[in-house]
Amino acid sequence: MIIMIRTTRWRPDTCSCEIDYSWDDSLPLDQVIFKLHKVNRACNAHAGVTDAFVTALEENQRKNYSLGEILDRFSKVRIGDSAGYSFKIGMEPKWAFTVSRVLQIDMGNNLTGAEKNTLRTTLNTRFGVGKVQVI
Ligand SMILES: [Zn+2]
Repeated sequence: MIIMIRTTRWRPDTCSCEIDYSWDDSLPLDQVIFKLHKVNRACNAHAGVTDAFVTALEENQRKNYSLGEILDRFSKVRIGDSAGYSFKIGMEPKWAFTVSRVLQIDMGNNLTGAEKNTLRTTLNTRFGVGKVQVI
């Protein structure tokens, strides 16, 4: 069997790191393991972190999962169908990571207090309390 190791350059939208990772493209996508190849540039948040790749990847996945959860859960904020949702114009969450790398999601008045509570509970269960803040 020929193993094809590919390298992909990744610039996450959650920080300004630039990381090359490698993966074996002979494996099905759900079995692929992404391995750090090289951190080309670490952002301020990840410069002193032992494993910048794992940390940046976790933060990126936490953001993606959280926004996906909002789309799945609240039909009023989205357009599209189950094949792919996106946020309606004006319904997009504002999100950012705090200095301590808590993901802060600002839904403004687009969700009610009760809806935000439901979302908080879901995200606390998924990531642990204090990882995502919904405002
Ligand atoms: Zn970074």
